[in-house]
Amino acid sequence: MQRRDFLSATLAGAASASLPLTALGQTTAPNVMAGSLSEPARDIPVVDSYDVIVCGAGPAGVAAAIEAGRTGAKTLLLEVHGCLGGVWTSGCLTWIIDNKNKGGLVAEIKDKLRERKGSATIPTGNSFSFDAEQMKILLEELCLQAGVTIRLFTRIVATSQKNGRLTHVVTESKSGREAWAGKVFIDCTGDGDLAARAGCNFDYGDSAGQGQPMSMLCLITGVHYAEIKEFIRDEEDSKIGSRSKKRLEEAIIKGGHKPSYTRPSLFPIYEDLHMLMANHEYGYLGTDARQVTEATLKGRAEVHKIIHSLQSLGGPWTNLKVVATGAQIGVRESRRIHGLYTVSRLDLIKGARFEDAVCRVTFGVDVHSVKKEDEAGAYNRGTNIKPYDIPIRALIAKDVQGLMMAGRCISGDFVAHSSYRVTGNAAIMGQGAGRVAALAAQKNILPQDVKWAEVKWSVE
Ligand SMILES: Cc1cc2nc3c(=O)[nH]c(=O)nc-3n(C[C@H](O)[C@H](O)[C@H](O)COP(=O)(O)OP(=O)(O)OC[C@H]3O[C@@H](n4cnc5c(N)ncnc54)[C@H](O)[C@@H]3O)c2cc1C
Repeated sequence: MQRRDFLSATLAGAASASLPLTALGQTTAPNVMAGSLSEPARDIPVVDSYDVIVCGAGPAGVAAAIEAGRTGAKTLLLEVHGCLGGVWTSGCLTWIIDNKNKGGLVAEIKDKLRERKGSATIPTGNSFSFDAEQMKILLEELCLQAGVTIRLFTRIVATSQKNGRLTHVVTESKSGREAWAGKVFIDCTGDGDLAARAGCNFDYGDSAGQGQPMSMLCLITGVHYAEIKEFIRDEEDSKIGSRSKKRLEEAIIKGGHKPSYTRPSLFPIYEDLHMLMANHEYGYLGTDARQVTEATLKGRAEVHKIIHSLQSLGGPWTNLKVVATGAQIGVRESRRIHGLYTVSRLDLIKGARFEDAVCRVTFGVDVHSVKKEDEAGAYNRGTNIKPYDIPIRALIAKDVQGLMMAGRCISGDFVAHSSYRVTGNAAIMGQGAGRVAALAAQKNILPQDVKWAEVKWSVE
């Protein structure tokens, strides 16, 4: 009854005349602010039931699903894009930060990419660089081997609960509206979509609610490492403090375009394949489709302007080409879902340790200013970190039972998020959440009731 009530979606609103749903397709350019639309109640098929349902297949989500599957849980992985990997693949971000001290799936993925020659051939220092297409196929293989059911092209749109506990997630796809029953759910959507739909409280942005800029990333070819080395953020450049960024900015400006990000970076993969991050889209909300669309169009247009600028310089840039821009613009921050613990700036400063530590973070604070005029400021916001731990409690939702989070939507403050959000941490958090979720589902208990000693987890 409760599910039926919930799933009977009603797009209610003001007392204005409502439009029958069937009229929607006949209306040209509807004004969404005018009136409201009543959707008739309908039954939604429950496709199947799972021990663990992972929503979002970025670095956190794939790791969560693989680990849950390997721990013996019947696991479903839902993803809106057409491949696994999130920012690693759909986002063209081929650069794993904070990976060196990580074992588990981070080490395994790195090893497997090396084996299949999908890792960088250029020395990259502390970050691990890879080929996005190799990452896509590897993640699919690992998920399938772990017995995970993968559903692509499927967006999380609603949830159902009973007595404060999540029971179903509702999706939309080519197959229409569907429901999936689960014992434990993990929100790995980056934006915290699942938790927000379930009614969890969350924070967004800095104390004024402003988020960091988005960036449209892209992969480029047609230029050779040896000929443009001075512009590349390779191991040598990282050691001397990234002089390459200034040179790249000056080169783009010389070609006729002033990039919206004053520290544009070229990250090496192979001799003839590199990743470019060179734009900042300020003031857009990651949870508003109209704003994300606007940022995407602006970002992609600028990427092409930057490429044209460099091409116009001739010489080593003459044959420069874009291989791919992100299907998804890089959203640095979005909802931070309230958990049983909130990672704070103070934890970073004192190098916090917890008995239930799921991830040890070594990467510093990297706040990309929320306003263009502050871009020249220090990215660490005066916060010098000591390696610190994230407790599993920061990955367990406070307001809804049976729900965990992993990746950039966990419970933390603005400054802490700017440190732990990078993908080496996101993946390990996902793996830890996957194991806890599987154990909770097998014992029919809540994630917070799983004894940490039984998780057999170490961050050392
Ligand atoms: C521009 C930029 C540069 C960065 N640079 C680096 C870097 O160099 N190195 C590094 O390690 N980190 C970097 N980061 C940080 C890092 O990329 C993110 O914090 C990381 O994406 C966290 O992983 P995630 O799995 O939480 O989220 P994501 O990678 O965002 O994955 C979320 C997944 O959920 C899916 N999803 C979202 N909503 C729904 C829904 N409603 N239904 C179904 N699926 C959904 C998405 O399609 C996606 O696949 C950068 C981030 C940005 C934006």
